[in-house]
Amino acid sequence: MVKRFTWLVAGLTLGLVSGCAVNPLTGQEELMFFSEDKDVQLGEKYAPQIEQALGGRFPDENLQDYINTVGQRIARFCHRPDIAYHFTAVDEKQVNAFAVPGGYIFITKGLLEKLDCEAQLAAILGHEIGHVVARDTMAALSRQIGMTALLGAAASVGGSGSGDLMAGTAFVSGVLSLQYSRDDEKAADMVGMAYLVQAGYDPRAAVETMRILQELQSVRPVEFFSTHPNPQNRVAYLEERIERRYGMIGELKMGREDYEQNVLAVLAEHKSPRRPPDGVTTEVEGHEPASSLETGS
Ligand SMILES: [Zn+2]
Repeated sequence: MVKRFTWLVAGLTLGLVSGCAVNPLTGQEELMFFSEDKDVQLGEKYAPQIEQALGGRFPDENLQDYINTVGQRIARFCHRPDIAYHFTAVDEKQVNAFAVPGGYIFITKGLLEKLDCEAQLAAILGHEIGHVVARDTMAALSRQIGMTALLGAAASVGGSGSGDLMAGTAFVSGVLSLQYSRDDEKAADMVGMAYLVQAGYDPRAAVETMRILQELQSVRPVEFFSTHPNPQNRVAYLEERIERRYGMIGELKMGREDYEQNVLAVLAEHKSPRRPPDGVTTEVEGHEPASSLETGS
């Protein structure tokens, strides 16, 4: 209580406390230390560092456009459509997706290559938008890196104070290792599915996505579940929701071909050794450089 009071005073001093805000997913009033503008400023300032820590932007602009188009299609239907959302694929092998406060959403190459249709991608992005809308990231961050570091990071943006390098570093590593609560996770699942359907995607893709991740998890720990804990009966409640709420809905988009063409084929191409551009002759195929012939057995 004393601690909370100290933060409140610190927050008031820095002009950061915004008082109560209604969580649009639960309808509950929650004490928010930051205004929504501050979330956006934090995202703007730290998203580039988070992107860098995740291997940087995946180097294919057609793939990026595709990911962003799918993300924007869902974001139109979310509870906070006024936020400028940014969806970026990062060149990172771990299987994960991240929501940074203020609408910056990252999905890893490692996760993209496990999915097999556009609706599954939409399910992941919808889930992450759910975390942004509920402002779960800020709540989880205040639990994990502590309010002092969070206030320090917030004070360093928007001209309300000098930069606090340590707090900034804590903020970036906090987002990367963040763990949502199981309640937040379930709420993001539910609302993500609603956005998915409104955007015209088949909600069964959300179940497929979870099955893919859970199957992977049975072989090795999947990073997605270290930041997004697996709520109990996840597949069961998603299926029950589809049955009860969306059972009557006709055929919606899965987008297997679109995904194959715009994502899987591109990822496969980037995996294979680079070919020289057309018209450039470097080596003649089948002819090893002399040095490697000499060192061969
Ligand atoms: Zn989550």
